[in-house]
Amino acid sequence: MRDVRRDPAFLDDDPILEYLNNFGSALVAAYPGARGETGADFYFFAMRDPMLNAFALPGGFIAAHTGLLLAAQNESELASVMSHEIGHVTQRHIARMIGQQKQDALMPLAALILAALASKAGPDAAVGVMMGGQGLQIQRQLNFSRDAEREADRVGFQIMGSGGYDTSGMVGFFQRLQTATKVYSDLTPPWLMSHPLTSERIADIQARIRETPFRQRVDGLEFHLVRARARVLQDVSTQGLIDATKVFEFQLTNQSRQQQAAAQYGLALVALKRGELTKAGDLLAKARATMKPAAGAVFSTGQSTSDAASMFASMSLEIKLAPGQPASMAPLTVKEAEQAYQQFPLSRGIARQYAKALIASGQLDKAAVFLREQVRLYREEPKLYELLAQTYAAQGKLSLQHIALAESYVLSGAVPAAVDQLTIARKAPDASFYDLATIDARERELQERVKEEKKENKER
Ligand SMILES: [Zn+2]
Repeated sequence: MRDVRRDPAFLDDDPILEYLNNFGSALVAAYPGARGETGADFYFFAMRDPMLNAFALPGGFIAAHTGLLLAAQNESELASVMSHEIGHVTQRHIARMIGQQKQDALMPLAALILAALASKAGPDAAVGVMMGGQGLQIQRQLNFSRDAEREADRVGFQIMGSGGYDTSGMVGFFQRLQTATKVYSDLTPPWLMSHPLTSERIADIQARIRETPFRQRVDGLEFHLVRARARVLQDVSTQGLIDATKVFEFQLTNQSRQQQAAAQYGLALVALKRGELTKAGDLLAKARATMKPAAGAVFSTGQSTSDAASMFASMSLEIKLAPGQPASMAPLTVKEAEQAYQQFPLSRGIARQYAKALIASGQLDKAAVFLREQVRLYREEPKLYELLAQTYAAQGKLSLQHIALAESYVLSGAVPAAVDQLTIARKAPDASFYDLATIDARERELQERVKEEKKENKER
Protein backbone atom coordinates (compact mmCIF):
# COMPACT_ATOMS: atom_id res chain seq x y z
CA MET A 1 0.00 0.00 0.00
CA ARG A 2 2.95 2.31 0.67
CA ASP A 3 4.09 1.68 -2.89
CA VAL A 4 0.58 2.31 -4.17
CA ARG A 5 0.46 5.68 -2.41
CA ARG A 6 3.69 6.71 -4.13
CA ASP A 7 2.34 5.63 -7.51
CA PRO A 8 1.42 8.71 -9.58
CA ALA A 9 -1.80 6.89 -10.51
CA PHE A 10 -2.92 6.94 -6.85
CA LEU A 11 -5.71 9.54 -6.85
CA ASP A 12 -4.84 11.57 -3.78
CA ASP A 13 -7.99 13.66 -3.70
CA ASP A 14 -9.75 14.29 -0.39
CA PRO A 15 -13.36 14.58 -1.64
CA ILE A 16 -13.08 11.36 -3.69
CA LEU A 17 -11.34 9.49 -0.84
CA GLU A 18 -13.94 10.69 1.67
CA TYR A 19 -16.81 9.69 -0.60
CA LEU A 20 -15.37 6.23 -1.33
CA ASN A 21 -14.71 5.58 2.36
CA ASN A 22 -18.19 6.69 3.44
CA PHE A 23 -19.71 4.63 0.64
CA GLY A 24 -17.50 1.60 1.33
CA SER A 25 -18.00 1.72 5.10
CA ALA A 26 -21.76 1.69 4.61
CA LEU A 27 -21.37 -1.42 2.42
CA VAL A 28 -19.12 -3.09 4.99
CA ALA A 29 -21.60 -2.26 7.76
CA ALA A 30 -24.32 -4.03 5.78
CA TYR A 31 -22.54 -7.36 6.21
CA PRO A 32 -22.48 -8.51 9.86
CA GLY A 33 -19.07 -9.80 10.81
CA ALA A 34 -17.38 -8.19 7.81
CA ARG A 35 -14.64 -6.77 10.00
CA GLY A 36 -13.92 -10.23 11.42
CA GLU A 37 -12.70 -11.08 14.91
CA THR A 38 -9.88 -8.59 14.69
CA GLY A 39 -12.22 -5.71 13.83
CA ALA A 40 -10.17 -5.17 10.70
CA ASP A 41 -10.30 -1.78 9.03
CA PHE A 42 -11.13 -1.20 5.42
CA TYR A 43 -9.63 1.54 3.30
CA PHE A 44 -11.07 2.51 -0.05
CA PHE A 45 -9.21 4.51 -2.69
CA ALA A 46 -9.19 5.35 -6.39
CA MET A 47 -6.58 4.89 -9.10
CA ARG A 48 -6.29 7.26 -12.06
CA ASP A 49 -6.90 4.72 -14.80
CA PRO A 50 -9.50 4.63 -17.60
CA MET A 51 -9.52 0.81 -17.61
CA LEU A 52 -12.54 -0.70 -15.88
CA ASN A 53 -11.15 -2.33 -12.80
CA ALA A 54 -11.44 -2.77 -9.07
CA PHE A 55 -9.26 -4.89 -6.82
CA ALA A 56 -8.56 -5.83 -3.22
CA LEU A 57 -5.14 -5.89 -1.56
CA PRO A 58 -4.26 -7.80 1.62
CA GLY A 59 -5.25 -5.81 4.71
CA GLY A 60 -8.66 -4.58 3.57
CA PHE A 61 -7.44 -2.09 0.96
CA ILE A 62 -9.95 -1.85 -1.89
CA ALA A 63 -9.36 0.17 -5.05
CA ALA A 64 -11.66 1.41 -7.80
CA HIS A 65 -10.26 2.72 -11.07
CA THR A 66 -11.63 6.08 -12.23
CA GLY A 67 -12.79 4.15 -15.33
CA LEU A 68 -15.13 2.12 -13.13
CA LEU A 69 -16.48 5.24 -11.37
CA LEU A 70 -17.29 6.73 -14.77
CA ALA A 71 -18.86 3.55 -16.16
CA ALA A 72 -21.25 3.15 -13.21
CA GLN A 73 -24.46 5.09 -13.92
CA ASN A 74 -25.72 4.89 -10.34
CA GLU A 75 -24.54 3.92 -6.87
CA SER A 76 -26.12 0.47 -7.10
CA GLU A 77 -23.92 -0.34 -10.10
CA LEU A 78 -20.83 0.87 -8.28
CA ALA A 79 -21.90 -1.09 -5.19
CA SER A 80 -22.21 -4.30 -7.22
CA VAL A 81 -18.47 -4.34 -7.99
CA MET A 82 -17.29 -2.90 -4.66
CA SER A 83 -19.30 -5.32 -2.51
CA HIS A 84 -17.91 -8.23 -4.52
CA GLU A 85 -14.40 -7.01 -3.64
CA ILE A 86 -15.43 -6.61 0.02
CA GLY A 87 -16.57 -10.23 -0.23
CA HIS A 88 -13.01 -11.28 -1.13
CA VAL A 89 -11.68 -9.48 1.95
CA THR A 90 -14.31 -10.73 4.43
CA GLN A 91 -13.83 -14.32 3.26
CA ARG A 92 -10.08 -13.86 3.71
CA HIS A 93 -9.44 -15.15 0.18
CA ILE A 94 -6.00 -13.62 -0.09
CA ALA A 95 -4.91 -14.88 3.34
CA ARG A 96 -6.31 -18.31 2.56
CA MET A 97 -4.50 -18.39 -0.76
CA ILE A 98 -1.18 -17.61 0.94
CA GLY A 99 -1.90 -20.21 3.65
CA GLN A 100 -2.71 -22.81 1.02
CA GLN A 101 0.61 -22.18 -0.68
CA LYS A 102 2.51 -22.85 2.52
CA GLN A 103 0.71 -26.15 2.89
CA ASP A 104 1.77 -27.17 -0.56
CA ALA A 105 5.34 -26.61 0.56
CA LEU A 106 6.14 -24.70 -2.58
CA MET A 107 4.26 -22.68 -5.10
CA PRO A 108 7.00 -20.75 -6.80
CA LEU A 109 6.02 -17.18 -7.41
CA ALA A 110 7.36 -17.37 -10.95
CA ALA A 111 5.01 -20.24 -11.75
CA LEU A 112 2.08 -18.28 -10.35
CA ILE A 113 2.88 -15.22 -12.41
CA LEU A 114 3.38 -17.36 -15.47
CA ALA A 115 -0.03 -18.98 -14.95
CA ALA A 116 -1.67 -15.60 -14.48
CA LEU A 117 -0.09 -14.25 -17.65
CA ALA A 118 -0.93 -17.40 -19.56
CA SER A 119 -4.59 -17.35 -18.56
CA LYS A 120 -4.75 -13.80 -19.91
CA ALA A 121 -3.18 -14.89 -23.16
CA GLY A 122 -5.94 -17.44 -23.71
CA PRO A 123 -7.16 -20.84 -22.55
CA ASP A 124 -4.77 -22.80 -24.76
CA ALA A 125 -1.73 -21.09 -23.34
CA ALA A 126 -2.94 -21.82 -19.81
CA VAL A 127 -3.16 -25.50 -20.63
CA GLY A 128 0.35 -25.35 -22.01
CA VAL A 129 1.71 -24.08 -18.72
CA MET A 130 -0.27 -26.59 -16.72
CA MET A 131 1.32 -29.43 -18.70
CA GLY A 132 4.65 -28.37 -17.26
CA GLY A 133 6.20 -29.37 -13.95
CA GLN A 134 4.01 -27.20 -11.75
CA GLY A 135 0.82 -28.36 -13.47
CA LEU A 136 -1.08 -29.84 -10.55
CA GLN A 137 -0.43 -27.00 -8.19
CA ILE A 138 -1.52 -24.37 -10.65
CA GLN A 139 -4.69 -26.33 -11.38
CA ARG A 140 -5.56 -26.30 -7.68
CA GLN A 141 -4.91 -22.57 -7.52
CA LEU A 142 -7.30 -21.83 -10.38
CA ASN A 143 -10.02 -24.09 -8.96
CA PHE A 144 -9.75 -22.44 -5.61
CA SER A 145 -10.20 -19.02 -7.07
CA ARG A 146 -13.35 -20.05 -8.95
CA ASP A 147 -14.85 -21.04 -5.58
CA ALA A 148 -13.63 -17.81 -4.12
CA GLU A 149 -15.32 -15.86 -6.91
CA ARG A 150 -18.62 -17.60 -6.27
CA GLU A 151 -18.29 -16.83 -2.56
CA ALA A 152 -17.48 -13.18 -3.23
CA ASP A 153 -20.57 -12.95 -5.48
CA ARG A 154 -22.69 -14.40 -2.67
CA VAL A 155 -21.36 -11.99 -0.02
CA GLY A 156 -21.54 -9.09 -2.47
CA PHE A 157 -25.17 -9.84 -3.21
CA GLN A 158 -26.00 -10.01 0.49
CA ILE A 159 -24.34 -6.62 1.05
CA MET A 160 -26.31 -5.11 -1.84
CA GLY A 161 -29.56 -6.42 -0.41
CA SER A 162 -29.14 -5.38 3.21
CA GLY A 163 -27.46 -2.12 2.19
CA GLY A 164 -30.64 -1.10 0.41
CA TYR A 165 -29.18 -1.15 -3.10
CA ASP A 166 -31.03 -2.15 -6.23
CA THR A 167 -29.73 -5.59 -7.19
CA SER A 168 -31.76 -5.87 -10.37
CA GLY A 169 -29.25 -3.86 -12.38
CA MET A 170 -26.27 -6.05 -11.51
CA VAL A 171 -26.32 -8.40 -14.49
CA GLY A 172 -27.28 -5.55 -16.80
CA PHE A 173 -24.27 -3.52 -15.65
CA PHE A 174 -21.83 -6.38 -16.15
CA GLN A 175 -23.30 -7.13 -19.57
CA ARG A 176 -23.18 -3.46 -20.54
CA LEU A 177 -19.51 -3.33 -19.59
CA GLN A 178 -18.82 -6.36 -21.70
CA THR A 179 -20.63 -5.17 -24.84
CA ALA A 180 -19.27 -1.61 -24.51
CA THR A 181 -15.74 -2.89 -24.63
CA LYS A 182 -16.52 -5.22 -27.52
CA VAL A 183 -17.67 -2.24 -29.58
CA TYR A 184 -14.83 0.13 -28.74
CA SER A 185 -11.82 -2.14 -28.44
CA ASP A 186 -10.55 -5.68 -28.52
CA LEU A 187 -9.48 -5.44 -24.91
CA THR A 188 -11.62 -7.02 -22.24
CA PRO A 189 -11.56 -4.80 -19.15
CA PRO A 190 -9.36 -6.29 -16.41
CA TRP A 191 -12.24 -6.76 -13.98
CA LEU A 192 -14.22 -8.81 -16.47
CA MET A 193 -11.09 -10.73 -17.39
CA SER A 194 -10.71 -11.95 -13.82
CA HIS A 195 -14.49 -12.12 -13.41
CA PRO A 196 -15.80 -13.57 -16.68
CA LEU A 197 -19.57 -13.41 -17.07
CA THR A 198 -20.10 -17.13 -17.48
CA SER A 199 -23.67 -18.32 -18.02
CA GLU A 200 -23.31 -20.05 -14.65
CA ARG A 201 -22.48 -16.78 -12.91
CA ILE A 202 -25.34 -14.94 -14.63
CA ALA A 203 -27.78 -17.71 -13.66
CA ASP A 204 -26.55 -17.58 -10.05
CA ILE A 205 -27.03 -13.81 -9.83
CA GLN A 206 -30.40 -13.90 -11.58
CA ALA A 207 -31.69 -16.59 -9.22
CA ARG A 208 -30.74 -14.36 -6.28
CA ILE A 209 -32.38 -11.32 -7.88
CA ARG A 210 -35.68 -13.25 -8.23
CA GLU A 211 -35.67 -13.88 -4.48
CA THR A 212 -35.11 -10.20 -3.65
CA PRO A 213 -37.87 -7.58 -3.69
CA PHE A 214 -37.22 -4.77 -6.17
CA ARG A 215 -36.00 -1.59 -4.57
CA GLN A 216 -35.98 1.81 -6.17
CA ARG A 217 -33.08 3.79 -4.83
CA VAL A 218 -32.41 7.53 -5.04
CA ASP A 219 -28.71 8.29 -5.33
CA GLY A 220 -27.13 11.12 -3.43
CA LEU A 221 -25.88 14.13 -5.39
CA GLU A 222 -22.38 13.43 -4.08
CA PHE A 223 -22.17 10.34 -6.30
CA HIS A 224 -22.55 12.54 -9.39
CA LEU A 225 -20.15 15.16 -8.02
CA VAL A 226 -17.53 12.47 -7.39
CA ARG A 227 -17.91 11.18 -10.94
CA ALA A 228 -17.43 14.71 -12.27
CA ARG A 229 -14.25 15.03 -10.17
CA ALA A 230 -12.98 11.65 -11.34
CA ARG A 231 -13.58 12.65 -14.96
CA VAL A 232 -11.47 15.79 -14.61
CA LEU A 233 -8.72 14.33 -12.42
CA GLN A 234 -8.33 11.17 -14.51
CA ASP A 235 -6.60 13.29 -17.16
CA VAL A 236 -5.67 16.92 -16.40
CA SER A 237 -3.71 17.40 -19.63
CA THR A 238 -4.86 20.21 -21.96
CA GLN A 239 -6.62 17.69 -24.19
CA GLY A 240 -8.08 15.84 -21.19
CA LEU A 241 -9.68 19.06 -19.93
CA ILE A 242 -11.10 19.81 -23.40
CA ASP A 243 -12.61 16.30 -23.57
CA ALA A 244 -14.09 16.57 -20.07
CA THR A 245 -15.61 19.98 -20.96
CA LYS A 246 -17.39 18.44 -23.96
CA VAL A 247 -18.90 15.70 -21.78
CA PHE A 248 -20.05 18.23 -19.16
CA GLU A 249 -21.57 20.53 -21.77
CA PHE A 250 -23.60 17.63 -23.11
CA GLN A 251 -24.54 16.64 -19.56
CA LEU A 252 -26.00 20.13 -19.02
CA THR A 253 -28.81 19.26 -21.48
CA ASN A 254 -29.90 16.40 -19.19
CA GLN A 255 -33.31 16.91 -17.53
CA SER A 256 -32.12 15.78 -14.10
CA ARG A 257 -31.12 18.65 -11.80
CA GLN A 258 -28.51 16.42 -10.14
CA GLN A 259 -26.90 15.83 -13.54
CA GLN A 260 -26.94 19.54 -14.37
CA ALA A 261 -25.43 20.50 -11.01
CA ALA A 262 -22.74 17.84 -11.37
CA ALA A 263 -21.89 19.14 -14.86
CA GLN A 264 -21.56 22.71 -13.53
CA TYR A 265 -19.42 21.44 -10.68
CA GLY A 266 -17.23 19.56 -13.17
CA LEU A 267 -16.86 22.67 -15.35
CA ALA A 268 -15.89 24.64 -12.22
CA LEU A 269 -13.12 22.13 -11.53
CA VAL A 270 -11.92 22.37 -15.17
CA ALA A 271 -11.75 26.17 -14.78
CA LEU A 272 -9.84 25.79 -11.50
CA LYS A 273 -7.32 23.46 -13.16
CA ARG A 274 -6.84 26.05 -15.89
CA GLY A 275 -6.26 28.75 -13.28
CA GLU A 276 -9.45 30.62 -14.21
CA LEU A 277 -10.40 31.28 -10.61
CA THR A 278 -13.26 33.79 -11.05
CA LYS A 279 -14.92 31.56 -13.63
CA ALA A 280 -14.51 28.57 -11.31
CA GLY A 281 -16.23 30.45 -8.48
CA ASP A 282 -19.12 31.52 -10.74
CA LEU A 283 -19.68 27.97 -12.01
CA LEU A 284 -19.65 26.57 -8.49
CA ALA A 285 -22.25 29.15 -7.46
CA LYS A 286 -24.37 28.02 -10.43
CA ALA A 287 -24.10 24.37 -9.35
CA ARG A 288 -25.23 25.28 -5.83
CA ALA A 289 -28.13 27.36 -7.18
CA THR A 290 -29.26 24.48 -9.40
CA MET A 291 -29.70 22.29 -6.33
CA LYS A 292 -31.44 24.95 -4.26
CA PRO A 293 -35.09 23.95 -3.72
CA ALA A 294 -37.68 26.27 -5.24
CA ALA A 295 -39.70 28.18 -2.63
CA GLY A 296 -42.14 25.84 -0.95
CA ALA A 297 -41.00 22.77 -2.87
CA VAL A 298 -39.89 19.64 -1.07
CA PHE A 299 -36.76 18.65 -2.88
CA SER A 300 -34.71 15.64 -2.04
CA THR A 301 -31.08 15.38 -3.07
CA GLY A 302 -30.88 11.79 -1.94
CA GLN A 303 -29.84 10.08 1.26
CA SER A 304 -26.95 12.10 2.53
CA THR A 305 -27.33 15.71 1.52
CA SER A 306 -24.56 16.72 3.89
CA ASP A 307 -21.94 14.87 1.80
CA ALA A 308 -22.78 16.91 -1.27
CA ALA A 309 -22.89 20.06 0.85
CA SER A 310 -19.43 19.32 2.23
CA MET A 311 -18.15 18.74 -1.31
CA PHE A 312 -19.48 22.15 -2.34
CA ALA A 313 -17.91 23.76 0.74
CA SER A 314 -14.57 22.09 0.14
CA MET A 315 -14.52 23.08 -3.57
CA SER A 316 -15.23 26.69 -2.64
CA LEU A 317 -12.20 26.61 -0.31
CA GLU A 318 -10.11 24.85 -2.96
CA ILE A 319 -10.77 27.79 -5.30
CA LYS A 320 -10.05 30.39 -2.60
CA LEU A 321 -6.81 28.70 -1.51
CA ALA A 322 -5.55 28.32 -5.11
CA PRO A 323 -2.34 30.11 -6.07
CA GLY A 324 -3.10 33.44 -7.70
CA GLN A 325 -5.75 34.66 -5.25
CA PRO A 326 -5.07 38.13 -3.85
CA ALA A 327 -3.63 38.20 -0.33
CA SER A 328 -6.39 40.59 0.71
CA MET A 329 -8.87 37.72 0.47
CA ALA A 330 -7.08 35.58 3.09
CA PRO A 331 -9.00 36.79 6.21
CA LEU A 332 -12.37 36.07 4.54
CA THR A 333 -11.14 32.62 3.48
CA VAL A 334 -10.16 31.83 7.07
CA LYS A 335 -13.66 32.75 8.22
CA GLU A 336 -15.25 30.54 5.55
CA ALA A 337 -12.90 27.64 6.36
CA GLU A 338 -13.62 27.91 10.08
CA GLN A 339 -17.36 27.76 9.41
CA ALA A 340 -16.95 24.79 7.05
CA TYR A 341 -14.83 22.97 9.64
CA GLN A 342 -17.51 23.51 12.30
CA GLN A 343 -20.25 22.36 9.95
CA PHE A 344 -18.36 19.27 8.69
CA PRO A 345 -16.05 18.23 11.55
CA LEU A 346 -15.64 14.73 10.12
CA SER A 347 -14.15 15.91 6.83
CA ARG A 348 -10.38 15.49 7.01
CA GLY A 349 -9.96 17.48 3.80
CA ILE A 350 -11.78 20.51 5.21
CA ALA A 351 -9.79 20.31 8.47
CA ARG A 352 -6.56 20.61 6.46
CA GLN A 353 -8.03 23.37 4.31
CA TYR A 354 -8.73 25.29 7.54
CA ALA A 355 -5.07 24.88 8.54
CA LYS A 356 -3.94 26.03 5.09
CA ALA A 357 -6.19 29.09 5.34
CA LEU A 358 -4.69 29.99 8.74
CA ILE A 359 -1.15 29.66 7.35
CA ALA A 360 -1.98 31.70 4.23
CA SER A 361 -3.40 34.51 6.34
CA GLY A 362 -0.36 34.56 8.60
CA GLN A 363 -2.18 33.34 11.73
CA LEU A 364 0.73 31.05 12.46
CA ASP A 365 0.32 30.61 16.22
CA LYS A 366 -3.30 29.59 15.76
CA ALA A 367 -2.30 27.22 12.91
CA ALA A 368 0.38 25.58 15.09
CA VAL A 369 -2.04 25.06 18.01
CA PHE A 370 -4.69 23.61 15.68
CA LEU A 371 -2.25 21.29 13.89
CA ARG A 372 -0.62 20.03 17.10
CA GLU A 373 -4.10 19.10 18.33
CA GLN A 374 -4.86 17.43 14.97
CA VAL A 375 -1.71 15.26 14.94
CA ARG A 376 -2.64 14.07 18.42
CA LEU A 377 -6.11 13.00 17.20
CA TYR A 378 -5.12 11.66 13.78
CA ARG A 379 -1.79 9.94 14.17
CA GLU A 380 -1.61 8.44 10.69
CA GLU A 381 -1.80 11.52 8.46
CA PRO A 382 1.58 12.55 6.99
CA LYS A 383 -0.04 15.65 5.46
CA LEU A 384 -0.79 17.10 8.91
CA TYR A 385 2.92 16.98 9.77
CA GLU A 386 3.78 18.57 6.41
CA LEU A 387 1.46 21.48 7.25
CA LEU A 388 2.93 21.69 10.75
CA ALA A 389 6.44 21.81 9.26
CA GLN A 390 5.26 24.56 6.91
CA THR A 391 3.89 26.52 9.87
CA TYR A 392 7.15 26.21 11.85
CA ALA A 393 9.13 27.20 8.75
CA ALA A 394 7.05 30.38 8.44
CA GLN A 395 7.66 31.07 12.15
CA GLY A 396 11.41 30.56 11.65
CA LYS A 397 11.46 27.62 14.10
CA LEU A 398 14.04 25.48 12.34
CA SER A 399 14.48 22.60 14.76
CA LEU A 400 10.72 22.03 15.16
CA GLN A 401 10.28 22.30 11.39
CA HIS A 402 12.65 19.40 10.72
CA ILE A 403 11.26 17.29 13.59
CA ALA A 404 7.78 17.66 12.05
CA LEU A 405 9.13 16.81 8.59
CA ALA A 406 10.78 13.70 10.03
CA GLU A 407 7.40 12.54 11.38
CA SER A 408 5.74 13.07 8.01
CA TYR A 409 8.46 10.95 6.36
CA VAL A 410 8.02 8.20 8.98
CA LEU A 411 4.29 8.02 8.20
CA SER A 412 5.01 7.86 4.46
CA GLY A 413 7.35 4.93 5.06
CA ALA A 414 10.59 6.80 4.28
CA VAL A 415 12.41 6.07 7.55
CA PRO A 416 16.01 6.78 6.39
CA ALA A 417 14.91 10.21 5.10
CA ALA A 418 13.29 10.81 8.49
CA VAL A 419 16.60 10.08 10.24
CA ASP A 420 18.29 12.64 7.96
CA GLN A 421 15.71 15.26 8.99
CA LEU A 422 16.41 14.57 12.67
CA THR A 423 20.13 15.12 12.04
CA ILE A 424 19.33 18.51 10.50
CA ALA A 425 16.99 19.30 13.42
CA ARG A 426 19.77 18.57 15.94
CA LYS A 427 22.18 20.97 14.20
CA ALA A 428 19.61 23.78 14.08
CA PRO A 429 20.76 26.77 16.17
CA ASP A 430 17.38 27.05 17.91
CA ALA A 431 17.23 23.43 19.13
CA SER A 432 16.28 23.61 22.81
CA PHE A 433 17.42 21.16 25.46
CA TYR A 434 13.97 19.61 25.32
CA ASP A 435 14.09 19.35 21.50
CA LEU A 436 17.46 17.57 21.68
CA ALA A 437 16.10 14.98 24.10
CA THR A 438 13.10 14.38 21.78
CA ILE A 439 15.40 14.05 18.77
CA ASP A 440 17.73 11.55 20.50
CA ALA A 441 14.90 9.30 21.68
CA ARG A 442 13.16 9.35 18.31
CA GLU A 443 16.39 8.70 16.42
CA ARG A 444 17.15 5.59 18.49
CA GLU A 445 13.67 4.22 17.72
CA LEU A 446 14.06 4.87 14.01
CA GLN A 447 17.58 3.39 13.83
CA GLU A 448 16.13 0.21 15.35
CA ARG A 449 13.41 0.18 12.74
CA VAL A 450 15.89 0.64 9.88
CA LYS A 451 17.90 -2.33 11.22
CA GLU A 452 14.76 -4.49 11.45
CA GLU A 453 13.77 -3.63 7.89
CA LYS A 454 17.23 -4.51 6.59
CA LYS A 455 17.03 -7.86 8.36
CA GLU A 456 13.61 -8.58 6.87
CA ASN A 457 14.82 -7.73 3.40
CA LYS A 458 17.76 -10.13 3.78
CA GLU A 459 15.49 -12.96 4.92
CA ARG A 460 13.35 -12.39 1.87
ZN1 LIG B 1 -13.54 -11.49 -7.63
